[in-house]
Amino acid sequence: MIRVRFAPSPTGMFHVGGARSALFNWALAEQAGGRFVLRIEDTDAARNRPEWTEGIISALAWIGVNDTHPAFEGPYFQSSYEKQHREAVATLLADGRAYHCGCTRDEVKARTGSEHQGYDGFCRDRGLAEGAVRFRTPDEGVTVIQDLVRGTVEFPNAAMEDFVVARGDGSPLFVLANVVDDVEMRISHVVRAEEHLSNTPKQQLLWDALGVTPPIWAHVPVIVNEKRQKLSKRRDKVALESYRDEGYLAEAMVNYLMLLGWGPGDDREIMPWSEMVPLFRLQDVNPSPAFFDEKKLRAFNGEYIRALPLAEFVSRCDPWLEPGWDREVFAKVAELAQTRIAVLSEITANVDFLFLDEPVFDQASWDKAMKNSAVEILTGYLARLETVAMDPDSLKGALEEVGTEHGLKLGKAQAPVRVAVTGRTVGLPLFESIEVLGRERTAERLRAALA
Ligand code: GLU
Repeated sequence: MIRVRFAPSPTGMFHVGGARSALFNWALAEQAGGRFVLRIEDTDAARNRPEWTEGIISALAWIGVNDTHPAFEGPYFQSSYEKQHREAVATLLADGRAYHCGCTRDEVKARTGSEHQGYDGFCRDRGLAEGAVRFRTPDEGVTVIQDLVRGTVEFPNAAMEDFVVARGDGSPLFVLANVVDDVEMRISHVVRAEEHLSNTPKQQLLWDALGVTPPIWAHVPVIVNEKRQKLSKRRDKVALESYRDEGYLAEAMVNYLMLLGWGPGDDREIMPWSEMVPLFRLQDVNPSPAFFDEKKLRAFNGEYIRALPLAEFVSRCDPWLEPGWDREVFAKVAELAQTRIAVLSEITANVDFLFLDEPVFDQASWDKAMKNSAVEILTGYLARLETVAMDPDSLKGALEEVGTEHGLKLGKAQAPVRVAVTGRTVGLPLFESIEVLGRERTAERLRAALA
């Protein structure tokens, strides 16, 4: 049975790169009828926070990775397995695969003459009964990793120092805890970020030393920004939650994240999850860095928004509308807005003019629109508003006439009216907006602009 895992450390906001790894694992579990284990690697108490664990769980749930699906198992917490980690260290010691070491960093440096040399094996055969525990790595040969994404990767054993698996106080290190948990959880495939590739030869040696067949490895590519720099939380918008909170749709996000390093093999890009799952293969993941293109993600999201049934679009917009805003009025413009926004949060600025007593005031828009013959246009349109039929064509015809009187094309004549009515220079189609706003309220706003 395929058993995969996603093993985040709750040391910060949940990163889009983590989400992509989770989805690759999730696709594998789902396509094979296997299991996906969520394991929170919470052993670094100083850097962990409960709200980050909650953030990971809720962000995963948002993209569909949650316990309503039979493939989901967990969450497990690494900190609850400390007994097993310690037992594994004891086994390695008992089998002679590891030994106690009492050297300080300075002593090692003094002997090897360098900080970068690695441990020199000084305590290997001293038979100490305490101190940090080091794993005895082979002196010769190579450790070969078969990686589904990267192919065969060889690590010369001579370059691998006897690495520490437990501290002097007995507490196990990540490199060991991570393996012991994978062993305990009978993980068949370890699919994770490329940054862990350097741990992999050590971990494969640990699997062997614990007498268990190592898993199938796959290290998925790093994600970079437009400058080809690794996405970083200081520089880039990396938190999955921030996309959710801005009004990205989970299904667009999932689609986009899956394409960071993988593709279905043809030029299709917009694809629902259900179509990607049967096609996903780790062998098809491209090992080179994947570019996180926020503009492209936005475009994806716009497509997903436009594809929503209208009623669904209306309900997804709900969190971005103030509680007091009349939903029936919103429904009248929803279809117009649906084709114009790329993220749901943009709905607010497109429709607020319908609900606010006065439209928002934005000096820049005002300065841009209220010049040339603005006063004449507003005055002329106000007069026509008394009698014009309240349908978009008539409303438009009336403004065209006013414009002609002052030598302005419709586009120019619209600008002051739009700003007077909506407060902004861009937005929903003007005449449909006026139709919904109504004669009285429109007139009131034109008068206010003239005052
Ligand atoms: N806890 C590790 C991390 O968040 C993951 C290790 C792994 O996937 O093996 O980077």
